[in-house]
Amino acid sequence: MDLQATLEDLKCLVAFDTTSQLPNRPLIDWVANRLEPLGFEVMVQEAPEPGKANLFATFGPQREGGLMLSGHSDVVPVTGQPWSSDPFALRAHEGRLYGRGSADMKGFIACLLQAAPGFARAKLKAPIHFALSYNEETDMGGMKQLAARLRESSQLPRAAVIGEPTSMQVVVANKGAAIYRFRVRGFEVHSSLRDRGVSAVETAARIIVRSLDIQKRMREDLRHDGFDFPFSSIHVGRIHGGTAHNITAKDCEFLLEIRALPGRAAAPYIAELRAWCEAELLPAMRAIAEASDIAIEEITDSPGLDERGNTRLGRAMMPLCACHSPGRVSFGTEGGILQDAGIPTVICGPGQISVAHQANEFVELDQLERCLHFLDRLRHAMETDPACFF
Ligand SMILES: [Zn+2]
Repeated sequence: MDLQATLEDLKCLVAFDTTSQLPNRPLIDWVANRLEPLGFEVMVQEAPEPGKANLFATFGPQREGGLMLSGHSDVVPVTGQPWSSDPFALRAHEGRLYGRGSADMKGFIACLLQAAPGFARAKLKAPIHFALSYNEETDMGGMKQLAARLRESSQLPRAAVIGEPTSMQVVVANKGAAIYRFRVRGFEVHSSLRDRGVSAVETAARIIVRSLDIQKRMREDLRHDGFDFPFSSIHVGRIHGGTAHNITAKDCEFLLEIRALPGRAAAPYIAELRAWCEAELLPAMRAIAEASDIAIEEITDSPGLDERGNTRLGRAMMPLCACHSPGRVSFGTEGGILQDAGIPTVICGPGQISVAHQANEFVELDQLERCLHFLDRLRHAMETDPACFF
């Protein structure tokens, strides 16, 4: 294991600008070219969007079952962030490596590349799979597409580790992540004649107040003390509407986010809001202006990761990374998608989630070293007793 070589690989990975709206194919091809000469069987799955793809690479004695090590290849935008150096040129300073994606989650991918020759030389008793997805940071469409493919094939892994930044602790549960766009269409008149108009801003405000009632019920519905905020959450983080103080607003748009606890789903809450809008708001709006409308569009809805599905896997992974108690996180991961496809999954990777998506994102060299040790022990377990994972 060579920390310096890992750093060099990370430098290359960071230099590929794989911001979610851009193609990730150059990075995927670069990784494929590294794995194929080692004997990995590499499958590149093209996305419906041009220039994007998933990678699924397998090595080992048989072609079914096995353990999947997974990461996303895309990163969030740097636009408007006060970076003190080029975000796509990895910079080392006092034990930290700065760059977009260094923690989330190209550091883990660099460690996988470093561990690959070891896996290729080992006498594995079960196959190992490396998976890289696209669009994790937007709608998780990449992993949804890959999971559907694995489900249909005979290659369904029996367990998975996603290397999202957890400071190398084993995370067994995360909340779901769902985002919806609400578009309210009202009717514009001079505000002195307000009864003849329909204010889209005021209608949006009523929907948001209604969502706070839902938050209240979420607190009473289910509590899980493993999470910082131990309930499902509903939140409006962005709103835009209206043109002037003296015009009833014709349009208002806002984004509503739901982070449902494992075992709960976002969709029923949205169905409830939709029904309420149709029964309580729209008739009065349309009595004034026929074209009034409230449109609700799902941007993404990814299920949470439920620890009830991965107890054995979590226990087997903990000693490999010196983790003493399993964690739960409130950020969304692809774990719930894999779990829904029948693959028990845990999250464990280098770096801190608190620096991800920020300016001057970094990963500590020490974290990469710990990840390399983890992968080393994991390889050893795959040579001796892979059944401990399944
Ligand atoms: Zn991530």
